[in-house]
Amino acid sequence: MFGLFSCDIGIDLGTANTLVHVAGQGIVINEPTVVAMDRKNDRVTAIGSEAKKMLGRTPGANVAIRPMKDGVIADFQLVEILLSTFIKRVQKYPLFLVKPRVVIGVPSGITEVEKRAVTDAARMAGAKEVHLVHEPMAAAVGMGIPVEGPAGNMIVDIGGGTSDIAVIALNGIVCNASVRVGGDEMDEAIVNYLRRTYNLIVGESTAEQIKWAIGSAFPLEEELTMEVKGGDVMAGLPRTMTITSQEIREALNEPVTAIVDAVKQALALTPPELSADILDRGIIMSGGGSKLRGLDARIRKETGLSVNVIDDPLLCVCKGAARILEDLDKYRPVLISSTI
Ligand code: ADP
Ligand code: MG
Repeated sequence: MFGLFSCDIGIDLGTANTLVHVAGQGIVINEPTVVAMDRKNDRVTAIGSEAKKMLGRTPGANVAIRPMKDGVIADFQLVEILLSTFIKRVQKYPLFLVKPRVVIGVPSGITEVEKRAVTDAARMAGAKEVHLVHEPMAAAVGMGIPVEGPAGNMIVDIGGGTSDIAVIALNGIVCNASVRVGGDEMDEAIVNYLRRTYNLIVGESTAEQIKWAIGSAFPLEEELTMEVKGGDVMAGLPRTMTITSQEIREALNEPVTAIVDAVKQALALTPPELSADILDRGIIMSGGGSKLRGLDARIRKETGLSVNVIDDPLLCVCKGAARILEDLDKYRPVLISSTI
């Protein structure tokens, strides 16, 4: 009976979103990395999408927490709860019949202690084998890049909490740079800009929606506007304003510049042979932050390299984790830890 049913689970444990792929089914979970808790009795009240709706608007003792806030594990226990809830949710068969194999994409700045915490969480949720892979590597595999080849490929992954830049060749990360600037910093920059310039108070969820709707990193062919509702610092009453994409671009300049600088820094650290490859092949961008309008154009302009955003940039880490499981023997060298 044992081993009769196999269950391979690929997970992207991102700072903003967690995705779960099940072999034979595809991506079955794609939800924010958010946990809601009732502080009064320390009970988890919601996980994922349900919990994100509560961010910034939770009444009283009910709080929504992002356990992976700055590219690292901010709250071990909640990461454990989130992972085990998701793994259990996708289990088709009872655990005594099948022990799943799991590959988890983790931030490249992860520490040994954090690695162990993630592994333990997956094992407590019933995983038999737990393998960890750095997110930029998983992204590269997910994009279909031949990571085992000698040619260098530069991946720029812009997530919620961090931007990771990695040059990948021969199954390894040759050089990388990571900055704790990503989509979250962009949201904060918008919050600060509106308060400073218009005394308008908006929450981070509203700021994120503004970023999606009219955010940019490079002049647009047609500039955009948006009606924004917020509170007034002085009067404390709600009010509506029309905001332009030029203004939001100015607001986003600081985080965008930090990301561009990190890319330049990684290029400067790249060994010459691999720089030549990157000159030929260009930079490949992934992660939700790469969807910011004109970010590719901005990096192209500042580095002189060609820059491409992968299709479905939010999915490629999870797809990569799934692909690694399909051929674990081939991809073993790219894993950073394995517990069997
Ligand atoms: P992580 O890997 O850290 O979980 P993701 O790759 O899931 O991060 O990306 C999440 C980030 O991408 C969020 O900050 C989100 O606001 C941002 N994002 C998603 N779509 C867009 C878009 N269209 N424009 C700008 N930013 C976006
Ligand atoms: Mg990610």
